[in-house]
Amino acid sequence: MNELSSFISPQFITELQSQGLRLEEPDKNARRGGAGPSDLKAVTIDGRTVMIPIFKSSENESPFVACTPKEHGISYIRHSSGRVIPVSFPSQPRFYDLKTSDGIPYSHIATLHSSDVLATTVLQSCVRYTNRKKSCQFCAIGQSLEAGRTI
Ligand code: SF4
Repeated sequence: MNELSSFISPQFITELQSQGLRLEEPDKNARRGGAGPSDLKAVTIDGRTVMIPIFKSSENESPFVACTPKEHGISYIRHSSGRVIPVSFPSQPRFYDLKTSDGIPYSHIATLHSSDVLATTVLQSCVRYTNRKKSCQFCAIGQSLEAGRTI
């Protein structure tokens, strides 16, 4: 186990996922809306990719701040304690630039989660979502459909 592996413990990942990540620069590729939790960003830390809630810098007091990524998505997370952790952000898949023959962006049909999980929602409704008292509070399946980001 190298020095970084011993630092990147399950407790560290849990803390990062609980407190979220502030971004130096807004990320237009972050997942917004859809079924299940949204406003997440895939972050690869010590070879493992995890989904982390993200915030604009001014909105949150999280002690974790991600520097603007350089070439190939290489970045760093700074903790308010002064610690710096090297990370990378998986690139946007090439199929996001493609469309079907009738003009539907592939990204509206399926999205990449983490670095190697392709997900699609076949039925864009849910018996729970129609009642906000019963629906999962983090879910935005209806908003992404209304905004035209899914089909
Ligand atoms: S409200 Fe429905 S679609 Fe949304 S996360 Fe919950 S079960 Fe899934």
